Amino acid sequence: RGAEREYVLEAINSTYVSSVGPHVDRFERMLEEATGATRAVACVNGTAALEMCLILVGVGAGDLVLTQAISFVATANAVAHLGAEPVFLDCAPDNLGLSPAAVSAFLQVHCEHTAGGCRHKATGRRVAACVPMHTFGFPCQILELVEICESWGIPLVEDAAEAMGSFYRGQHCGTFGRVAALSFNGNKVITTGGGGAILTNDAALGERAKHWTTTSKVPHKWLYMHDHIGWNFRMPNINAALGCAQLEMLPSFLMEKRRRAAAYAQLFSTSEWKFMQEPEGSLSNYWLCAAMTRNREERDAFLAASNEAGIMTRPVWEPLNSLPMFKNCLHDSLTSVKYIADRLVNLPSGCLAT
Ligand SMILES: *Cc1c(COP(=O)(O)O)cnc(C)c1O
Repeated sequence: RGAEREYVLEAINSTYVSSVGPHVDRFERMLEEATGATRAVACVNGTAALEMCLILVGVGAGDLVLTQAISFVATANAVAHLGAEPVFLDCAPDNLGLSPAAVSAFLQVHCEHTAGGCRHKATGRRVAACVPMHTFGFPCQILELVEICESWGIPLVEDAAEAMGSFYRGQHCGTFGRVAALSFNGNKVITTGGGGAILTNDAALGERAKHWTTTSKVPHKWLYMHDHIGWNFRMPNINAALGCAQLEMLPSFLMEKRRRAAAYAQLFSTSEWKFMQEPEGSLSNYWLCAAMTRNREERDAFLAASNEAGIMTRPVWEPLNSLPMFKNCLHDSLTSVKYIADRLVNLPSGCLAT
């Protein structure tokens, strides 16, 4: 609907379709403008961006990473790819994000401060990061999580993959922790085909993120010199061109998504089901609309009837602790996670041309 065709053709005509080009720089500057982050680094996808965030804060083999049991599987995969292990904690029922109370309780009961940082007492493993996720675009209780993590000396990494355009107390999601990941996959609020970005307010960390995601090559006119083990996580220029156009459309996408959410809220106001709305003090992008049914039977009946009628609805992701590859990971009682997993349904949330 916007300048997508124009900018992608511009990229093709310039011959810069691959790993460098002016649209990548332009997209990164536009992301900084839109989020208020000091530095944005475009990446090949959101999962790679999240993995790099964890690497940047020093997560490595044998470490534990605190995260929420309700998330897309990529959150836990990024942790596992580094040889670290996710610890699945409970979510807050109002915002579906990582519960500060659950993090606090886990740390107080099971962990201790040591010279080498925060350690899990029973296993002696280091708690190397905490990764809350802004579920469906609803900002989590990020300020409380920042405070807890600071007091325990644990780096906070935001999985803001679903939160482009979401704000907490006027500040864009993904700018509260040390570093954050965004996603621009086709199903997200804005898309680059496939893509993601790292956000940080630490200029030096941002510089390192750019360097490591682009093979750690030392700038030189002709020499091929690399000064660190690097990754090829950069976003191709042709995708960034698409991203520039999509980011220009963001305000209209947000308006439309919020209009749709308001219509759902009106519809559900007379229902026994609770339509999920942005928590106090926050602005949600309403990426994926959600409602809480009264019980699992009601949920299943609704999913069957709506899908039968050709309307795509779905339950929330299977809690990550129940997936075969994560079933032996540490977790807490997950009381709210179980409640949410039994009842929540996602409703059609697409943007249509008006
Ligand atoms: C989409 C998503 C990702 C991964 O992003 P990709 O660009 O698909 O790799 C990570 N975490 C969450 C919560 C997501 O929704």
